[in-house]
Amino acid sequence: MNLNTIAEVKRPSSPDEVGPWRPSYAWLAGGTWLFSEPQVTTDTLIDLDSFGWPSLTPTPDGLEISATCRVADLHAFRGPPEWKAVPLFRDCIDAFLMSFKIWNAATIGGNIVMSLPAGAMISLTAALEGVCTLWPRDGAPRSVPVVDFVTGNHRNVLRPGELLRSIHLPAAALTRRHAMRQMSLTRLGRSAALIVATVDDDGRDFLLTVTAATPRPVQLRFQRTPTAAELRLGIDERLPPDGYFEDVHGSAAYKRHITYYLAEQIRAELA
Ligand SMILES: Cc1cc2nc3c(=O)[nH]c(=O)nc-3n(C[C@H](O)[C@H](O)[C@H](O)COP(=O)(O)OP(=O)(O)OC[C@H]3O[C@@H](n4cnc5c(N)ncnc54)[C@H](O)[C@@H]3O)c2cc1C
Repeated sequence: MNLNTIAEVKRPSSPDEVGPWRPSYAWLAGGTWLFSEPQVTTDTLIDLDSFGWPSLTPTPDGLEISATCRVADLHAFRGPPEWKAVPLFRDCIDAFLMSFKIWNAATIGGNIVMSLPAGAMISLTAALEGVCTLWPRDGAPRSVPVVDFVTGNHRNVLRPGELLRSIHLPAAALTRRHAMRQMSLTRLGRSAALIVATVDDDGRDFLLTVTAATPRPVQLRFQRTPTAAELRLGIDERLPPDGYFEDVHGSAAYKRHITYYLAEQIRAELA
């Protein structure tokens, strides 16, 4: 849609060129959400593409994903063979409710900043123990784990004008085994639950990440792959019946039921 409140689109070469932040400014990434509804309080868009950040930077320490990396570019990424978790990128991206336009224009950063419970890039990067680098308007960059970045439905820790610069996926997480399950009430519908677990090759350090069924990502860590009973108890301890996200894509009771069901499938697969 045309945003008729926008008077200016800035294309700075660095965030410092933006000057003092005003509440009517908004960072523009792929624009797939920004242009999907009226933005009546926004008069200026600041295009992140003009910073020219490289999309994906693999290093021995892991993978640096620029906030401006397109979903399609992450889907096409092939890492070294020891990064066994790379196929999870495609599994999570394919769980997206996505048109051709979103596929080619939406960014990983935009999806995380939207902070929707069913934000598939939140599921992926939280499960792989991603850490966000944030650039405040004043002050030094800060690091926040993805699992702590999202604080609720459409809520996160960003301060006014603060930029999500990148997400780092550590090599240690990329080399672990994983299993993933996703469920929607309708065939191409928004995820009602997207659950991932990762584990070391010897069955130690089992990490379960529950998303979409909950307003924000919830992680449970076990020293070893749990038994079915231990897993269920762990879920009960972290997630009371009112801890699930109720919306048109599923009642809280339904999401609770499929969380037990899918988590047990994942546990059995990895065990
Ligand atoms: C109707 C609709 C339903 C959708 N449902 C789902 C869904 O269920 N699950 C799912 O995963 N996706 C869903 N999407 C896709 C998705 O949430 C967004 O469209 C997309 O991920 C946003 O990415 P973008 O790069 O286009 O961001 P933009 O539209 O450009 O920006 C989105 C917001 O994030 C801010 N922003 C963007 N990048 C940064 C940054 N680096 N730092 C700080 N702020 C930033 C912008 O200012 C803006 O407020 C849906 C989209 C639409 C339009």
